[in-house]
Amino acid sequence: MTPGRPHNGPVNLVLIGPPGSGKGTQALRLAERYAIPHISTGDILRAAVRDGTPLGQQVSAVLAGGSLVSDDLVTDLVRERLRRRDVVGGFILDGYPRTIGQAETLDTLLAGTPLIIVLIEVANEAIVTRLSRRRVCESCRITQSTSTDDESSDEHCPYCGGRLARRQDDDPATVRHRLETYAAQAEPLIAHYRSRPTFVAVDGLQDLPVVTAGIAAHIERVR
Ligand code: ADP
Repeated sequence: MTPGRPHNGPVNLVLIGPPGSGKGTQALRLAERYAIPHISTGDILRAAVRDGTPLGQQVSAVLAGGSLVSDDLVTDLVRERLRRRDVVGGFILDGYPRTIGQAETLDTLLAGTPLIIVLIEVANEAIVTRLSRRRVCESCRITQSTSTDDESSDEHCPYCGGRLARRQDDDPATVRHRLETYAAQAEPLIAHYRSRPTFVAVDGLQDLPVVTAGIAAHIERVR
């Protein structure tokens, strides 16, 4: 902690990283630790698709193909979400901002409120394997890793017994497209944040608790 700085300010956290880098998992762990909401634009959009809302119908094909929905649409969602009272102690944004336009808009939305930025780095080869094994429980929606990349294997959720399904956009061809999309957007996005003292890059190939501890140590240093 820097002397003279408040050490219990809000934890306004942005997680950046390629698909499959563990943003969602880390966000859940950190949301619990700091008792702040986890705001995943991907989860919000997928829920809209599942519920068949007008928004869901609008974005369903884009999500299935692994491309990005428009900056305006996703920014409207985030703007609305950040108006809710539960963000007073902070928030974790997972999946937003994803483009330089979104990052600039977020700066405007936050109007100088301090932001902590964490980049979770994982090489592409590891991601394709990780995502081919990622399954989401259709009942409790917990994400987990299976022992196989065979999509037809019949494993069940160890927590609730629900059916484990691969996300529609986790098939290898769509993962490759998502990685290309990320690569195209990431460089300017990271350049936008890298020089800030609240920015840190962590190695996402380390064990889960080690990654969480690294992020938490950074938060404690800069908040
Ligand atoms: P990923 O594992 O690819 O990071 P997410 O769950 O964050 O997946 O997002 C899933 C999909 O939702 C993306 O491929 C994209 O279509 C859409 N999406 C999520 N966040 C954004 C965003 N900030 N801007 C544009 N599209 C987004």
